[in-house]
Amino acid sequence: MLIRGNPWLKYISSANIVVMDENCLFCKIIAGKIPSKKVYEDDRVFVFEDINPKAPTHVLIIPKRHVVGLKEATPEDAEILGYCQLIAAKIGRERGIEDGYRTVYNVGPRSGQSVFHLHLHLLGGRDMTWPPG
Ligand code: AMP
Ligand code: ZN
Repeated sequence: MLIRGNPWLKYISSANIVVMDENCLFCKIIAGKIPSKKVYEDDRVFVFEDINPKAPTHVLIIPKRHVVGLKEATPEDAEILGYCQLIAAKIGRERGIEDGYRTVYNVGPRSGQSVFHLHLHLLGGRDMTWPPG
């Protein structure tokens, strides 16, 4: 449903819950208010190049619906969590990095999570160390 006059109220779920957060960096990227290097987009997810890449391929897969992070996710988010992984696999195929890539959620401050809109990192194109730091 489109609410006239307020672009931040553009995406409303069927339960009338606002699903974009006007203070969220990644919601602003989805809305095109902050530029990004878009890799892929559909009705559910937006994918873009990480601004500070840690591997030759480093993209972020984010749901268009504002979800704070993995520990805040609810059963309602189960489908989008799986879908983000499938989109990562599709991009991994397209980028020719299937010999080794990693999908990562940083969860909570000790993990280094710095943006509080769920984002799946897809990293690949180089040897991956284990365990991660
Ligand atoms: P995390 O540390 O897991 O919260 O990941 C946040 C990621 O967002 C980091 O890898 C940042 O480099 C990336 N990032 C922050 N701002 C931007 C931006 N404007 N465009 C693209 N990536 C960004
Ligand atoms: Zn957001």
